[in-house]
Amino acid sequence: MKKNQLYINGQWINSESEEFIPVLNPATEEVIAEVVKATESEVDQAVAAAKEAFPAWNQLAVSERKSFLEKIYEILDRRQAEVAATVVLELGSPIGFTRGGQVKLSLVEMKATLEEIDNFKFEEEYHGSTIIKEGFGPIACITPWNWPLNQIQRKLTPALLAGNTLVVKPASNTPLTALLFAEIIHEAGLPKGVFNLVTGSGSETGGYLAAHPDIPLISFTGSTEVGRGLYEAASKSIKKLIMELGGKSPLIYLPGGDLDLAVDKAMQAIINNQGQSCSALTRFFVPKDQLEVTKEKILAYLKDITLGDPTKEETKIGALISKEQMDKVLAYIEKGKAEGAKLLTGGNRVGDKGFFVEPTVFYDVKNDMTIAQEEIFGPVSCLIAYDSLEEAIEMANDTTYGLSGAVVGPQEEALAVARQLRTGNVFVNEGIKSAKVPFGGYKESGLGREVGLYGVEDYLEVKAIIK
Ligand code: NAP
Ligand code: MG
Repeated sequence: MKKNQLYINGQWINSESEEFIPVLNPATEEVIAEVVKATESEVDQAVAAAKEAFPAWNQLAVSERKSFLEKIYEILDRRQAEVAATVVLELGSPIGFTRGGQVKLSLVEMKATLEEIDNFKFEEEYHGSTIIKEGFGPIACITPWNWPLNQIQRKLTPALLAGNTLVVKPASNTPLTALLFAEIIHEAGLPKGVFNLVTGSGSETGGYLAAHPDIPLISFTGSTEVGRGLYEAASKSIKKLIMELGGKSPLIYLPGGDLDLAVDKAMQAIINNQGQSCSALTRFFVPKDQLEVTKEKILAYLKDITLGDPTKEETKIGALISKEQMDKVLAYIEKGKAEGAKLLTGGNRVGDKGFFVEPTVFYDVKNDMTIAQEEIFGPVSCLIAYDSLEEAIEMANDTTYGLSGAVVGPQEEALAVARQLRTGNVFVNEGIKSAKVPFGGYKESGLGREVGLYGVEDYLEVKAIIK
């Protein structure tokens, strides 16, 4: 199946490009489709359409913009089974997880923002002036493959509500979900040019879009490495950047807490989405005298976890996204062994078709080892023993990242530790994140926040009309 269409100015257009990118099913290694690499002139057309559509969209009442997003919500809700099947096909995540953790999550987050927007002040009188918050213009949204629907939704919903128009460039590993989402958005009947989608390679199509002189804001989710390059490129025309980047998030277990809960969180971090999550809690800190019992609980936890065909309901661990990603994960595992960490379980590829890797846990990990410092983005957890709480907090913060974190322990102590972690989210014990609560990173994990009203805030320019 060749997909040579791009969504520009409210219609599907046939690309003139003759270059294509193959899309694989990572569980079978079959090529399931090919998507086109948009040409520079097609990116120009998409940006021009978004630019043309901006003034009218930005002038619409917020309630009118909201009603278009409500239509998208309704159609996505109706077509969720189809979207989930597409995500499973190109991402390799298990269907059970995908339905809830990928597709339903998008609906819940979208609804949460649509509810909250009524409480947001786009205009107010302030010290004799009128303060207006409005869109930036035509913006670029560049998204990764690990949540192929929701990484787009997290930008689309707040950015459109704020009055911006969009050109989206999805990840080349998972463009089919993005194309399906564009179909859904088309069905919702937005004014032409408000939403545009171009497929193509990151460095070429993505780089060209991000550097476009008519783009005042780039909203990027992906690796810190690519984010750093965009930061440099954006400086030429002082573009605003919203960046959700990598992570290496700590989970600290405190004596007297619920160790089963801590083990559950640490293992879910490497099971869900095969550990390919930016906020995965992959450094698990336990007091030295709890190390043995923690190891036993981990082994018991992983004993009956089903790995394999992601289309089966019972599967908990599917395939990694690509051979490249699998090789990277296996190389980190070798690096961990070479640096002296010990394997508690896992460490190998499973089978020889499809990119499956066992859930892998290292112990005797030192926080300065490569496997404890670099983002592996796969099913690998590092168990790190600590002597004192001060040492645990210091190690937890001793990373260039600062995305997420968790503390399991007696509630008051755990809350006090949470305040000392330098991360954008900290989960304490059974705490569950509302879909209205912000997400985003400190340090090299990013700039800005997504989700709910905090997410909308970043997509707004502020104008003071002084009377
Ligand atoms: P990536 O390689 O950085 O790619 C992300 C997106 O950027 C893709 O659409 C990619 O296109 C594009 N891209 C690549 N090079 C580019 C360039 N030079 N200029 C413009 N665009 C470019 O990341 P990934 O491998 O897809 O995703 C994994 C990473 O994303 C991890 O580091 C993870 O932590 C991070 N992530 C962060 C969050 C968060 O919210 N903080 C969420 C999810 C993922 P191609 O696909 O065509 O290469
Ligand atoms: Mg990449």
